[in-house]
Amino acid sequence: MEAIGLWWIGEREESPGTMEHVRLHVARALALPALVLEGPERPTGTLDPRRQQHSSARILEWLLRARPEGRVLGVTDVDLFIPVLTFVFGEAQLGGRAAVVSTARLAEGAPRDPRVRVERLAKEAVHELGHALGLTHCPDIVCAMSRSASVRDVDRKAGVLCRDCRSRLRDSTSGAEGA
Ligand SMILES: [Zn+2]
Ligand SMILES: [Zn+2]
Repeated sequence: MEAIGLWWIGEREESPGTMEHVRLHVARALALPALVLEGPERPTGTLDPRRQQHSSARILEWLLRARPEGRVLGVTDVDLFIPVLTFVFGEAQLGGRAAVVSTARLAEGAPRDPRVRVERLAKEAVHELGHALGLTHCPDIVCAMSRSASVRDVDRKAGVLCRDCRSRLRDSTSGAEGA
C-alpha cells in the first residue's frame, strides 16, 4: 500500500525530530508505511481575518491540490477552526486523502516540556489519519479515535487504536483499496 505522506506546512520551523517522531508513531499505530514529505509550499488564503484562525477545510482543499495523489497529513502550527467550534486540533476528509493537524493548542498546561506536545501531536495525527482511512469516533476513551475537545482528552488517550478500530481499519485497508 502507498505510504502516507506527512508534511510540515506550518509558519515557523519545526524540528525534524518532531516529524520523525510523528512518522514512527503513525506507522506503528496504523500499521501502514509513512514518510515525511519535504516541500516549501504553504497554504494561502486560509486565514479568517475576523477570527484570526485558519480554516481547516480550506487547508484540506489546499492539500488536495498541492498533492494530487496519495494520502497526506498536513502538520501545522497555525490555529485551526471549523465554523461551529472555537477551535479544532485537526480535521480530515472521512475516507478521503487529506488530513490536517495543528500543534497550536497542544502545549496547553505543559508549556515547559516539549515532549508532551510532541506526544499529543502524534496521537492527534493518528486520530485524523484514522478518519481519512474511514474510521469514525470511538466510544472507548483511551482509543486514539475517541473525540478530543481538550488536551485533557488527548492526554487520556493511549495514542493507539483499540481492538475494534484496529479490525475496522484492517477491513478497510485490505481489499477495498482501489475497488
Ligand atoms: Zn475526530
Ligand atoms: Zn476505538
